[in-house]
Amino acid sequence: MKPLERQNVIIEMAKKHEVVQVADISRICQVSEMTIYRDVQKLEQAGHIHKTSRGITALRQKQTSEESCSYCHKPAGGRLAVQLVFKDNTQEKACCSHCALLRYTEKREDTVQILCRDFLLDTTINAKHAAFVINSELPLFCCSPQPLVFQRQMDAERFAAGFGGSICSFEEAVSKLTQDMSCGCSVTYR
Ligand SMILES: [Zn+2]
Ligand SMILES: [Zn+2]
Repeated sequence: MKPLERQNVIIEMAKKHEVVQVADISRICQVSEMTIYRDVQKLEQAGHIHKTSRGITALRQKQTSEESCSYCHKPAGGRLAVQLVFKDNTQEKACCSHCALLRYTEKREDTVQILCRDFLLDTTINAKHAAFVINSELPLFCCSPQPLVFQRQMDAERFAAGFGGSICSFEEAVSKLTQDMSCGCSVTYR
């Protein structure tokens, strides 16, 4: 068995069982325990497994970045979550439009699309053509200030008439957020 094959066996065994012993692995791979120790050392350095006094355990794989906000690292699975699509076809999630717009300022050139949900209709819309309401009196849902997103200008106006806040375009919302860094996002979470 080649080293890479052995290392895969070790990882698979550690994943399957809670703890595996070097002796068991060496028997299965038919190599000396010394060889397995060396493999284990490499795998531990690479962050795949962890060696304790009880044996070898698999390290839980990091959550994919899709599930946490690429700007503030909070979970990004709620209905306020926004998806950013980049030129190279990679995607990121932001917990809310606040973080999505701030992330956009970092990756402006590479951003192809920003997909978010209409605050009223819950439909998926393109943030670049949306209307935003900032600083409404509604209690905040995620990060502050929270730009609420509407596909139709009319809905944004109606909303602002009821709950206050100022209506702005995508670029206006971006510049408002970058001016107002009192949200603490970048300080607290980065
Ligand atoms: Zn965030
Ligand atoms: Zn947020």
